[in-house]
Formats: sequence, C-alpha cells, structure tokens
Amino acid sequence: MDDEPRRAFFVQKHAARRLHFDFRLELGGALASWAVPRGPSLDPDDKRLAVKVDDHALEYGPFEGTIAGGYGAGAVMLWDRGWWRPEGGAAAEASLAVGRLRFELFGERMRGGWMLLRMRTKDKGDNWLLHKLDDAEARVPDDLTIRYPTSVASGRTMAEIAAAGAPPT
Ligand code: MN
Repeated sequence: MDDEPRRAFFVQKHAARRLHFDFRLELGGALASWAVPRGPSLDPDDKRLAVKVDDHALEYGPFEGTIAGGYGAGAVMLWDRGWWRPEGGAAAEASLAVGRLRFELFGERMRGGWMLLRMRTKDKGDNWLLHKLDDAEARVPDDLTIRYPTSVASGRTMAEIAAAGAPPT
C-alpha cells in the first residue's frame, strides 16, 4: 500500500564470542531483533535458528565498528539494510505475538518473501526459525553469506573493521 510507512531493516554481522548475524526489523519505534548464528539462507528448505533478543534503538541499526568490551565485544559489520513490509498488510505486532510473521524484504542482499516462525520448545529462550519463502529470489544452493563477505556501507571485511577499531598501540 502506498500510504504505508516504509520500515527499515538491518542485518549486522557480529563477531562476538560466537559469530552471528543480528537481524533487525523496525517495529513500533524500535528494532525487533533476532540473533541468527548461521545467517540467512536463500534456500527455502534451509531454516535458520533465530534467537529473539532484546529490542534495540532505531539509531543502532546502521552501526558499524567495534564494541570495545563487555557483552558482545567484537567487530560489527553492517551486512545488509533496506525496507520491509508485512505480507498482505497484516499487523506485524499481532503476527509477532502469535509467532508467525511473513514479510517482504527490499534490501541490498536479502530480497523477496521471508518468514519468522516461533518454535514450540520447552527450552528456555525464545527460539524462532528464519527462512526464505519460495519465490523468484529463492536460490538453491544458497551462498548468500559467502557471496557477500563485506559491508554494504563501507565495503570492509570483518578483519578490516576489527583492525580499524583496535586501540592504538
Ligand atoms: Mn549481536
């Protein structure tokens, strides 16, 4: 719908204690966020674990650099960015609440239909699956995270971001 406000999405590749991709959707004035250890796959059958984490401030979305210390210390690359919309104009908040969000991405790397589905587990944690819907943007085999090793913002590799952020010696 043309009168629908465009909502941002961001993906940050984050070399914390364990490498992961932070997938973030603008929603309700913040960034709803999931940590995806293996990153997104373009293969609709390749469902990737996405652990729901705390919302982040909108301003953090385009961040790239290094986190100096504490939780999450390490290099952060802006791996993808763009716009998203819930499929069929559905209320995204309600879809998230029931654990089933279908949406479309208009990113530089992630495009087409995607889905986030909350797993029913007895474990602690808020585990979801992120997967590609089968459309013209789907691709098998997938090589999205391998094909794009650099930042969409700066063109840098993780090593270059880490080196730039290191304190002077
Ligand atoms: Mn992270």
